[in-house]
Amino acid sequence: MLPEKVDVLVIGAGPAGTVAASIVNQAGYKVKIVEKQQFPRFVIGESLLPRCMEALEEARFLDAVKARGYQRKNGAKFEKNGKICNYFFDDQFTEGWGWTWQVPRADFDHTLAKTVESQGVSVAYETGVTGIVFHPDGTSTTTITDKDGNTSEIFARFIIDGSGYGRVIPKLFGMERPSNLPPRKAVFTHIADKNRSMDDEPDRITIIVHDKAVWIWVIPFSSGITSVGFVADAGFFDQFSGSSEEVMRALIASQPYIATRMKDADFVFEPKTLQSWSATTDKFYGDGFVLTGNVTEFLDPVFSSGVTLATVSSQIAGKLVVKKLKGEAVDWDEEYMKIMQQGVDTFRSYVMAWYEGTLDTIFFADDQDPDIKRKICSVLAGYVWDTDNPYVKDHATALKKLAKTIHLRDSISYINNGFKDPEPS
Ligand code: FAD
Repeated sequence: MLPEKVDVLVIGAGPAGTVAASIVNQAGYKVKIVEKQQFPRFVIGESLLPRCMEALEEARFLDAVKARGYQRKNGAKFEKNGKICNYFFDDQFTEGWGWTWQVPRADFDHTLAKTVESQGVSVAYETGVTGIVFHPDGTSTTTITDKDGNTSEIFARFIIDGSGYGRVIPKLFGMERPSNLPPRKAVFTHIADKNRSMDDEPDRITIIVHDKAVWIWVIPFSSGITSVGFVADAGFFDQFSGSSEEVMRALIASQPYIATRMKDADFVFEPKTLQSWSATTDKFYGDGFVLTGNVTEFLDPVFSSGVTLATVSSQIAGKLVVKKLKGEAVDWDEEYMKIMQQGVDTFRSYVMAWYEGTLDTIFFADDQDPDIKRKICSVLAGYVWDTDNPYVKDHATALKKLAKTIHLRDSISYINNGFKDPEPS
């Protein structure tokens, strides 16, 4: 059988794949998505960032997503030993979206996939990419295999790899590289959150500092279901034994901030475990292909950067692929790789500062400077490309300097206070 011919083959129908497919399709090119699983399918990554709204808008997905009635997310709340630090995206330094959503991903990703199909993109579900041969001119022949084991071929002028944790092209062509972040583990589930009240502020993600380098996400959905997950070094979980449900119940009981609210909650599914998710690759593009979303680099869940990096990378890459198909020159290094690396590196500095405790010092400091807070808020909203923001431009040093100043100020106040801790307010 002759191979099916398309302009662009997209691997994966997650947020990265569907945003890229929509942008190329809008320019009038023939696009096909090949997706290994049947949708809806479970995937973790439920708290979005405002910056991804720009990508969803450009992909013409916003109306369909709005119609799903997801929980609006207006900010992020950090909790440690009863102390609260709130960030509201409306207050951010960078001009842009001041809100987004908290989404059950099975439904969200299915909505994006159905919308891109309604725009005219063909999606082959339960069909995986099992081999690719690149020709000298950058075109390619891809072997796909359906659920019954039948194989066929697709000839494409260009491939966009949005295969997420599948990492199809890096694996097939030996481009995988280990991340410089240590491996971590997450244990999570969805609960029927009957004891949730408005005091729990469902309009934002809550991140609870549980212990040194151990934290919890609480992501309420509009359905009354709430996603809860514990993240730590794998060794932390060794102290808990029993079934996955028993381990999750013991974890919940060990954290005063959520114990009362969640201790008797029904679990929607048996708690799941994921670990060692950080991965990277030495190049985000090559002759005839570009990598987007998690295939480029996935860091860590703490700042909910995954879907934003996935959709923004596809927003940029989709437009560059169109440029390339039109016969215009594309400098992939300057126009794609450097831009994505800037976003990833900014988040990397924040992830490292989180686990080192630097952000702990900043988030829970007394008398925080509102101007600095607005700048950090922009990063938490996903505006990691705004180099007018010194907390983006100097991401590697700005947080450390700020934490040092806070420590110094606290030491001076301790001395002035006769070496006594201040009275609790
Ligand atoms: P995916 O969503 O993984 O989609 C890739 C698709 O490709 C899949 O549907 C897969 O079936 C398909 N595929 C794979 N291999 C093949 C193949 N061979 N052929 C065809 N199709 C294939 N991100 C956030 O934004 N917010 C969060 O709160 C958040 N929390 C997280 C918590 C944890 C514990 C972890 C590990 C991650 C979290 N993330 C979060 C990250 C988020 O999961 C990902 O960044 C996001 O799903 C990436 O989207 P994507 O489109 O690149 O990949």
